[in-house]
Amino acid sequence: MESCFKSIDQAVNESGVSKDAVVGIGVAHSGVIDSNQGIVLSFPRPGQMAEWRSVALREMVEERFKVPCVVEDSVRMAALLEKQVGVALDLSDFVYIRIGMGIGSCIFIDGEPYRGAGGSAGEFGHMTVDENGPLCSCGNNGCLSALASCGAIIQGVTSAIRKGVHSRIQEIVDNDFEQITIEMILEAAVQNDSLAFRALNAAATHIGVALADVVNLLNPFVVIFSGPLFQSNPRLMLDSIQRVIRQRALEKAAHEVQLIVSTLGGDAPALGAARFAAAKSIGKLYAQKA
Ligand SMILES: [Zn+2]
Repeated sequence: MESCFKSIDQAVNESGVSKDAVVGIGVAHSGVIDSNQGIVLSFPRPGQMAEWRSVALREMVEERFKVPCVVEDSVRMAALLEKQVGVALDLSDFVYIRIGMGIGSCIFIDGEPYRGAGGSAGEFGHMTVDENGPLCSCGNNGCLSALASCGAIIQGVTSAIRKGVHSRIQEIVDNDFEQITIEMILEAAVQNDSLAFRALNAAATHIGVALADVVNLLNPFVVIFSGPLFQSNPRLMLDSIQRVIRQRALEKAAHEVQLIVSTLGGDAPALGAARFAAAKSIGKLYAQKA
């Protein structure tokens, strides 16, 4: 929690704005979020930190900084920024998918993010794509996140190399497997490394299988992808995903959907949350003055 407080302090200091001028704080958080209550319901990060369960983050931030706080799902906030200043500026209906160490999504309908009756809609990463697949952090087997997130891809490549499968990645990291990154795997695939290519192709296939269902269900014209998998060479993944959608989704919807890549950086969730909190706080200030 202290590191969360420290990063808020740091953001205020770096902005050059005086602390008294801060009217609200927006927090974009991964995991399962109850944004109505400002609670992080679960935030599993195997090997990185202890799992969070039912952490009343909004209350803690408000107590510490004495200004209103909003706690929102990080992918929803990135999608909001995409709609305000990114490639979705002129779109009112689209699906936004972020693939990082986990997988999340946000569905925009009529210019607004769809939250679901309970506020937790958009858990694309927890769609089952292999009912007998590996255990996911949510307790289900074969979720998309457990098969196609950057974390899952890195784990798959690492375990294959450990079992003796040859890959140029082994030389790049000089047998220090902890150093393997998704960027290395992407680069190796471009250099025709068979293991890297197969790992990415398998992930793209799983993403395509899940997305074909979404395409059938929602008939979106645009799906926006973001995250490190789509940074250096977006077509590598997009072409494979598109192929699977054409194979599996209904013909009309499959031909109508266009897959594009976000041009915003990794700080999009934080920027989106800051704008969201500012709009809320400033709105309230105006309402009080009126
Ligand atoms: Zn899951």
